[in-house]
Amino acid sequence: MKPIRHYLAILAPVLAMFITIPANAQIDLPDWDTVEIVTEDLGHGVYMLQGFGSNVGAYVGPDGIFLVDNEYAPLSQKIMAALAGLSDQKVRYVVNTHWHRDHRGGNENFAKAGAVIVAQAETRRIMALAQKTPELQSEIGAAPENLPTITYDQAMTFHLGEETIALRYVPNVHTSGDTLVIFKKANVIQTGDMYFNGFYPFIDVPFGGSIDNMIRFYDVLYGLAGPDTKIIPGHGPIADRDDVRAYQNMLKIVRTRVALAIVKDTSLDDLKAAKPLDDLDPQWGDNLITADWLLDMVHADLVKHGVGPKND
Ligand SMILES: [Zn+2]
Repeated sequence: MKPIRHYLAILAPVLAMFITIPANAQIDLPDWDTVEIVTEDLGHGVYMLQGFGSNVGAYVGPDGIFLVDNEYAPLSQKIMAALAGLSDQKVRYVVNTHWHRDHRGGNENFAKAGAVIVAQAETRRIMALAQKTPELQSEIGAAPENLPTITYDQAMTFHLGEETIALRYVPNVHTSGDTLVIFKKANVIQTGDMYFNGFYPFIDVPFGGSIDNMIRFYDVLYGLAGPDTKIIPGHGPIADRDDVRAYQNMLKIVRTRVALAIVKDTSLDDLKAAKPLDDLDPQWGDNLITADWLLDMVHADLVKHGVGPKND
């Protein structure tokens, strides 16, 4: 599966400042000219667009287009062209589900084309901070148009055409500023990177991600979804709530195994050498997030959140 293979290309320079990145984490970005935008009709004016980077959600209404995430800057024109094939309306709003560049690299282009950029307050805080940090500036983009101009704290609702679109803040799942987007009439939920369909997650521990919150979030997501709800994941194909449940079960197993190793005072190297995820790899490991890397993240996360060796 390739949708996430670019992921560390953007994150490596950022995360290298905070944590050690595995040597194999450098991923090449594609020749942008070769990337095609594939559009999937989810009904009631809601679409999923996929090129290279995040999945993009779009509500195409009678008075404008509402976009959730926008991939990398070099793809903005192609995304705009794909949207022009659906409607002659302009993009009025762009929601960033979080600050990672593969989800909001096109902010400047969409803002200059007239869209209003919206994000949860924490996401904008991180982006504004990064813009002032020379080493991170190139990851965010120096132009002021990259920053959201409207932020919300807990929840926000858009009423556009026939659709009602609810934004909800879900703290500290993939990052500290994740937004869940619910297209109510279309019965579509877009998760950003709080959920990947089909492969191991990325948990941005230095920026507030947490496996325990991620596992809990899947109960929330399952509860919000009905049997026919279409779930747009951060990466990967459309999912349903049963996919989410299976994913949650996988992640619980990973969490249990890493926590057990920590409690037994097993070193991270010894844990990796024991290949504790070998049985999960065939189904979930076929992507950029390797078992070793997932172990790195979950280990760092659990230690950070107080799981330690038993004192006896
Ligand atoms: Zn992300």
